[in-house]
Amino acid sequence: MAKATEQQILDALRTIIDPVAGRDIVTLGMVQGLALNNGNAQFALGIDPAKAQQYEAVRLAAERVVGDLPGIFSATALLTAERAPAAPPAAPRQGPAKISLPTVRSIVAVASGKGGVGKSTTTTNLACALAAKGLKVGLLDADIYGPSQPRLMGITGKPRSPDGKVMEPMRNHGVKVMSIGFLLDDDKPVIWRGPMVVSALQQMLRDVAWGELDILLIDMPPGTGDIQLSMAQTVPLTGSVIVSTPQDIALIDARRGLAMFRRVEVPVFGFVENMSYFACPHCGERTDIFGHGGAAAEAAKLDTDFLGEIPLHLAIRETSDAGTPIVVTDPTSPHSLAYAAIADKVWGKVESILGGGGRTAPRIVMG
Ligand code: ADP
Repeated sequence: MAKATEQQILDALRTIIDPVAGRDIVTLGMVQGLALNNGNAQFALGIDPAKAQQYEAVRLAAERVVGDLPGIFSATALLTAERAPAAPPAAPRQGPAKISLPTVRSIVAVASGKGGVGKSTTTTNLACALAAKGLKVGLLDADIYGPSQPRLMGITGKPRSPDGKVMEPMRNHGVKVMSIGFLLDDDKPVIWRGPMVVSALQQMLRDVAWGELDILLIDMPPGTGDIQLSMAQTVPLTGSVIVSTPQDIALIDARRGLAMFRRVEVPVFGFVENMSYFACPHCGERTDIFGHGGAAAEAAKLDTDFLGEIPLHLAIRETSDAGTPIVVTDPTSPHSLAYAAIADKVWGKVESILGGGGRTAPRIVMG
C-alpha cells in the first residue's frame, strides 16, 4: 500500500476550514507537532482554550481526513492551547517561570526532530545504562502522542497516590518511571479535551514523588513545535540530547531541534545517530544502508558533539518491544556497550555543568 507522507497529511488538513476564522487550519498555522510513525499520524491543533468545545468538530474532521489517507492506520488529533500564557511583563529576558525540582540534580531532554527515529528506545537504554553506573535515575515519558515507556520499560499497572495529591513513580530495571501511558486506557485514543498538554506534562514533573535523583531523562514528544518549546522553556533542563537517523531529511529535522534548544539557552550535549548502519543478526556484517556518518559530520558543522552511533539491529527492537532493554538483558553486547559509552558522555557533560565533584560530593554552604 502506498504510504502517506507528511505533505499529503498537510494537504488533506488544508480541506478543513476553521469555522471561526473562515480559513483552512494549515494556513492558519494551527497544525503543530505532526508526527508520522509506522502509519500512525499524530498532531495537535492550537486553539484558544476558551473555545475548546467549538473545536471538537474540527478535531474530529481533521482525524477523519487524515485517517482516510492510504497507508494511515490511525490518526490522533489533540486540542492544545495556542500559546503558553503570556509571561509577566517584567523580566523580558527571563521567559516563563521554571518548575522547581529540588531533589533532582539534573534533567536531560532526549529529543528528535521527528517521530520514528528511535528516540524512546534510546532514552530507555540510556536510562538503564545510567542506572547500571550506580546513579539514581528517573525517566519521564513526555511523548504524549504515543507514550511507549510503559512497554519499553516493561511496566504495567497504575501509579499509587497514597495522599491523593502526589503520585509515586513506577519502577523497573532500577529506574523510576512516570508516563501518561500509566494513566490512560490502552485501547482508547488519547483525547485531551481541555487544551493544556504542556501543563499536564508539568504536573507529571511536579506532582510525582521522584525523591532524590542524580538524573531525570525526559523522553520528549517528537518534533520541535510549541509543546516542545514550552517544555524547554519551563523545565530547568541541564541539557539535551538529539536522536537522529542518518538520512538527510532526518538531519534537517535534527537541526531544528538543535536550534530550538539553543534559542532557549539549553545546552545541546550532542547528536546520537540511531539506526546508523544495519548489523546483520546472522553474520554480524555491517551495511551502511543510508550512507554512514551524517550525524557526525553534521554535529561538527553545527559545533555540537557526536555522542555515538547505534546500529539498526533486530535484537534492539525485540528487547525494546518486550520491555527488557538490551542494556539490561545483554549488558556486554556491543550494542549495550555503545549505549553505555553514550551514557558516560552524557553523565560527563552533566557533571561538568554541575561543577564536577562527583555525585557524592557534599554541598558546602559558607557563611
Ligand atoms: P521514536 O520514539 O523516535 O518514535 P521508537 O523508539 O519508538 O521511536 O522506535 C521506533 C521503532 O524502531 C520501534 O519499533 C523500535 O523498536 C525500533 N528501533 C528503534 N531503534 C532501533 C535500533 N537501533 N534497531 C532496531 N530497531 C530500532
